Amino acid sequence: MSTLTPYCVRCECANEIPVERTAAGGTAVCRCGREVRVPRLSELKRQAGELVELRVSALDRVRQLLLEQGLPPDPVCRITQRPTTDVLYLTVVCEEPRLRGNSSWWGLLFIGAGAFLVSLWLLPVYLLASREEPEVIAPETVFRLPVPIASDRQAQIRDYRESELRELLCTVPLYAQLLAEFPQARISLG
Ligand SMILES: [Zn+2]
Repeated sequence: MSTLTPYCVRCECANEIPVERTAAGGTAVCRCGREVRVPRLSELKRQAGELVELRVSALDRVRQLLLEQGLPPDPVCRITQRPTTDVLYLTVVCEEPRLRGNSSWWGLLFIGAGAFLVSLWLLPVYLLASREEPEVIAPETVFRLPVPIASDRQAQIRDYRESELRELLCTVPLYAQLLAEFPQARISLG
């Protein structure tokens, strides 16, 4: 969609017709020949806003819903298809957390450089750097996601391979979107 035509209306034929704001309140002609009513500008803006909202990343929505304790989004067991309040937690690592503060290659480089150059000022720098505890960066992309599974069915999940856990997660549309955003995500039980 170009910036000149920020809005669009949907024809009965399912075609999206781009419309200018000046077309608000009037009609637009679809390529199928139908005339389509264009809503008022306020309505066009509202619809465009909804589209923007849809594009908010699944990551952000998962984060938000976890804070609000709004997950899982529905209480239907993924095995029995019956209502359940039981959940099974799956850990999803969207991006591998990077570690820093432990002996990284550049830490070793420091030692090597220090030994070779015998530069005494490098040593305190390295000692300071290495004193940090290993710290997980970006833990906010690691989620424990509750999946509705009746408690008497949870045992069978224990044998699932990661690909099966992925399929299980994808039965929750929001989780499916998250995995679409992070196709490399690692999934494990617990
Ligand atoms: Zn049409």
